[in-house]
Amino acid sequence: MATPVPHEGPPRPYLVSIVLPCFNEEEVLERTHQRLSRAVRDLPHEIVYVDDGSTDRTWQLIEKLTGETPTARAVRFSRNFGHQAACLAGLREADGDAVVLIDADLQDPPELIPRMVEQWLKGWSVVSARRSHRQGETVFKKATAYTYYRLLASLTQQPVALDTGDFRLLDRKVVDFVGNLGESELFLRGAISWTGFPETSIRYERDARGGGETKYTLRKMLALSRSGLLAGGAALPLRLPTYLGVASLAAAVGVGVARQDPSRSAQLGAFGVQSLVCGVLGEYLISVFRQVQGRPPYLVLERIRSTARPTDPAP
Ligand code: UDP
Ligand code: MG
Repeated sequence: MATPVPHEGPPRPYLVSIVLPCFNEEEVLERTHQRLSRAVRDLPHEIVYVDDGSTDRTWQLIEKLTGETPTARAVRFSRNFGHQAACLAGLREADGDAVVLIDADLQDPPELIPRMVEQWLKGWSVVSARRSHRQGETVFKKATAYTYYRLLASLTQQPVALDTGDFRLLDRKVVDFVGNLGESELFLRGAISWTGFPETSIRYERDARGGGETKYTLRKMLALSRSGLLAGGAALPLRLPTYLGVASLAAAVGVGVARQDPSRSAQLGAFGVQSLVCGVLGEYLISVFRQVQGRPPYLVLERIRSTARPTDPAP
């Protein structure tokens, strides 16, 4: 694992922004605000609410809470754009030297934030919260998440840490990178781990929702998992025709030579060629997608500058 890199410049005084994406959270929002405010009262902080097009009283509550709390502010979407878009907006709005993304439903305990900040002050760029237990979630959700993250890890180059959601603290350099991605396939946790900046995690027990129902419908979960595979550059699905084509051509030769069956061999051969053609198109698609995605070829973690001053007069 990477080691922490001390921050450049003075770490203090610093500001921590706490970003809460909210979609129809009227049942729990006031309690979240109280618990959060108590948990971070000793930290220099700001609270940024992002209302992702709620259709209940969420925005009215946000207006009230921000009116009462000088350190809180908010943005409101014109409609529901989804959790990832809301997190992205929060990252772009936030002014902090570090930004914490946290769900508004009290499944992520706000009491963990000071511990995350402690790790950040030690020099970690990303502090993720790793769930050791998940309360009040369906077997379906746990099983699909378990399978999906293992699949993602095997198909993409820079896998996301297992058992982590979006509850994380991000240093300003990571926020600037992720906030400026401009990709249409949004999968923040993937982009964050792609940066490779020093990351550590702290363990916690994930609570049940503080109130209301999950806002992640099956459709939204499927859309997120699709984005994760695409944005992570999972090439295997587009490469399958190539593998199938090569296997079919080998089988065609085998059937032709060993079984002396020219018509079966011709069939397999024709299928193999078609499949390979699709595979070639797939390779171009992979390449075009990566080009369009436009991620930089590298990110610099730190620099050591020369101690000689070029302006010093020669002795
Ligand atoms: N959320 C959002 N937009 C959506 C769906 C969810 O901003 O379209 C927010 C939601 O208000 C919560 C967080 O994203 O703060 C996580 O959603 P939820 O708790 O419903 O997901 P789950 O924990 O069930 O996966
Ligand atoms: Mg939740």
